[in-house]
Amino acid sequence: MTETEKPNALCPSHYPNFHCIGGQCEDSCCIGWRVHLDKATYHFYKSNRHKALFKLFEQSVRRSEPKGDDKHFGIISMGEDGRCAFLDNENLCRIQHNLGAQALSKVCANYPRRANRLGDQLEYSLSLSCPEVARLTLLDEQAMRFVSTDIDPALDHISTLGSGMNSETGLMVLNDLRALIIGILQSRDLTIDARLILTGLLLEDFEAAMQAPAISAGQHQREVLQRYVALLGRPQSLQNDIDQLQPNLILKMRLVTALIGDIPTSEHNTRFRNILKEAAEGLSFQDKAPATDDERIACHASAYADYYAPYFDHHAHVLENYLVHHVFHALFPFARTTLLAQYREMVCNYLVVTTLLLGRAAFHKTMTAELAVGTIQSYTRFAGHYTHFKETIVRIIEEQNLTDIGTLFAVLANFRHSSAPA
Ligand code: SF4
Repeated sequence: MTETEKPNALCPSHYPNFHCIGGQCEDSCCIGWRVHLDKATYHFYKSNRHKALFKLFEQSVRRSEPKGDDKHFGIISMGEDGRCAFLDNENLCRIQHNLGAQALSKVCANYPRRANRLGDQLEYSLSLSCPEVARLTLLDEQAMRFVSTDIDPALDHISTLGSGMNSETGLMVLNDLRALIIGILQSRDLTIDARLILTGLLLEDFEAAMQAPAISAGQHQREVLQRYVALLGRPQSLQNDIDQLQPNLILKMRLVTALIGDIPTSEHNTRFRNILKEAAEGLSFQDKAPATDDERIACHASAYADYYAPYFDHHAHVLENYLVHHVFHALFPFARTTLLAQYREMVCNYLVVTTLLLGRAAFHKTMTAELAVGTIQSYTRFAGHYTHFKETIVRIIEEQNLTDIGTLFAVLANFRHSSAPA
């Protein structure tokens, strides 16, 4: 096999540059997570007699409850403060320090790396829940690029597409759909909100094409893709059309208040708790909550104009990278349920992120790269850890009637329609 024929994986261009910063990390991955152990690692730990570790192995390594498969055989108990029992005072791992990286469980050794499979294509990406990944990913001013990298045999836990999406031609079209979504999200002649609305329109049309009789569905899907490629060629008129959408600011306020109000404050991670508190204070969600919807809109609109827009009008790549990363990392929109259900969930997460950013901008009376990265990283970590929040999002979507895509677009339209594109 020649060098060029070697099997490889597709990854964002920053993937090979990632290095864990260990003790300097402001939000160690060894705090607040559940660490599963495969069967071999569980037995290796339980039989290990290293003098600095064996007591900890005895006390803090136990079988999963309820009993899991061989990949989820054991678990490391976290302390009451959510810290891994093997973390030392400098936030370094005692197992790695005493026994070497090869002694780490797969979860610890692989984090924050993730492997996905789309047809024959293997894809590697990094989780934004890691602060170092978040900096690398979000702050890159260039549009995210994708490159080939060597196969990593250690990354053997591979996520695949949802059922019913694995026929060969179907996969080619889906791959084209995802490439077009990334193209739309990276269209810097459009505002970020317009890019998201255009993505929704594309998915709505594409989902309708998928319902066509099997004999013509593929043709319909390709026509939809071609139509949107052509639309991207005239961004100014597209932006003008999207700017005609009437925003529903009252619904937007109710939606973000419901979403953020449903985030449990008992969350272990004090960093995220503080972010939530700052955002709530910045927007006066809690103590001095504005009495009426109009007052609440005025409060958000002035935070937007004074602190949020001055930063994001010139740093829209942060939000663009957040969305493009999600499309690649989470196999959006094919992983589960329908295309539009995936889209609604992505929009709700985007609304939570941008509201937290708005609130923190109001609280600090400024927005900076550090605040933006910390907010997005910390929320991603919360949402990955507290998986029930997905159910909350689905419930709120139904309660607020957001299953209607036009309503969803109305809440995406922002306070200031004339905001400059990136
Ligand atoms: S969160 Fe990232 S940078 Fe921090 S300790 Fe974990 S892998 Fe390293």
